[in-house]
Amino acid sequence: MNAIADIAKMSRRADFPGLPEGWHYLDTAATAQKPQAVIDAIARAYGEDYATVHRGVYRRSADMTIAYEAARQRVARFVNARSSDEIVFVRGATEAINLVAQSWGVSTLKAGDRILLSQLEHHSNIVPWQLLRERTGIEIDVCPLTADGRIDLDAAEAMLTDRHRLVALAHVSNVLGSTLDARRAADLAHRVGAKILIDGCQAVPRMTVDVQALDCDFYVFSGHKLYGPTGIGALWARGELLDAMPPYQGGGSMIDRVTFAATSWAPPPQRFEAGTPNIVGALGLHAAIDYVDAIGLDAIEAHERALVAKARDALSAINSVRLFGPADSAGIVSFAIEGVHPHDIGTILDEEGVAIRAGHHCAQPLMDHLDLPATARASFGIYNDEDDVAALARGIERVTRIFG
Ligand code: PMP
Repeated sequence: MNAIADIAKMSRRADFPGLPEGWHYLDTAATAQKPQAVIDAIARAYGEDYATVHRGVYRRSADMTIAYEAARQRVARFVNARSSDEIVFVRGATEAINLVAQSWGVSTLKAGDRILLSQLEHHSNIVPWQLLRERTGIEIDVCPLTADGRIDLDAAEAMLTDRHRLVALAHVSNVLGSTLDARRAADLAHRVGAKILIDGCQAVPRMTVDVQALDCDFYVFSGHKLYGPTGIGALWARGELLDAMPPYQGGGSMIDRVTFAATSWAPPPQRFEAGTPNIVGALGLHAAIDYVDAIGLDAIEAHERALVAKARDALSAINSVRLFGPADSAGIVSFAIEGVHPHDIGTILDEEGVAIRAGHHCAQPLMDHLDLPATARASFGIYNDEDDVAALARGIERVTRIFG
C-alpha cells in the first residue's frame, strides 16, 4: 500500500463529532478534538455511573472508586510505570511540574544547586522553576539548541556539573516538533547525580512512551492533548521519589490521621491528591488511552510523520515561507512568511476553514532565539489527512497572493 492510501486509511475523522465537513483542524498541539468514545465515557460517568470516590459506603461510590483506580492503572500501563502508585492525577502538565517544583524541589534543593532547562521549553517548564529559584536560591542554566532546532545534548553534556540536581526538558517541542533523545538526556543527568523530568505533553499523543526504558525520574503530560478531557493529566515519578516527597496541597483524602496537634500523610499517590479529584476526567482519560492504544501509537506516529513530511514539502515549495524545526519533526510544523504577521496568516487561513495557531506558543524564550515575535504553527492528529495538508497549502498560497 502506498503512503497516500495509508494516510487516508489511518484518518479517524468520522469518530470526531467536533470536525464538521470542510473544517481543517490543525491545532492539535494546543488541544486535541475528542472522539465519540471519550464523550460517551464522560456522559456515562456524569450520568448513570456518577458518585464520589473513596468515601462512599454505598455500591455506586464503591464502583466509582474502582473505576477511578482502574483509570490510574490504565495510565500506569500506558507509560509502563512499575506500579499505579507511581501515577498522581493532576490538572495537567502545568500542575504536575509545579507539584514537582514545590514538593520535591523545595524539600531537596538549596541555594547554589543548579538545574538545567532548554531554550525551547514551554513556559510551564520554565516559570515553576523560577518560582522555586525565588524560594530556594537555586540557579537555572539554559541548554542551547542545534541549528535545526533540537536540544543540543552535546552542549548539555559539557554544561552539566555535580552542582546540577535536575534536568527538565521537553520530550517533543510544542513549537518545532523536534524530539529529544530522552534516554541520552537521562543518562547525562544521572552521570552527574541529577534527576531528570521529561515534559511529555507533545510526546504521549504521538509516540510510544516507556518511562522505564527512558530511565527518567519524573514524566508529566496533559490528558486534553491525548484526545481526553481538559482538567486531567498525570505525573509519573519513581516510587522512591514520591515516597520521600512532602504534600503539595493539604485537605481531604491526602491524610492518614488529622488532629489539631499534628497530621500524618497518606502514602502516594493519595498524598498528592488533596480534595475530591477530577473523577470524570480520569474516566475520560481512561477512554482516551483505550482509544489511541487500539489504533496504536506506532501507527499514529507514522501517520503524523507522513503528514508532516507532506506539509513541509508543500510549504517549502512556496518561496516566501520559512520553515522551522528539523525535517523529521513529529506532528508539528512551525513556519513564517516574509513580511506577514502570523496572526494575519491565521486569520486568512480561518476564512478558508483552516484552523492553525499563531503566536508565541507559550515559548517566548524560543521566539527570542528565533528572533521573531511569533510563528504560525500547523499541528496534526489522528483525524487529519491529505485534504488538510492541501487546504493548508492553498490557504498559504492565498496569503502570499494577498500580501503580494
Ligand atoms: N508543555 C508542553 C510542551 C506543552 O505543549 C504544553 C501545552 N501547550 C504544556 C507543557 C502545558 O500543558 P497544560 O497547559 O495542559 O498544563
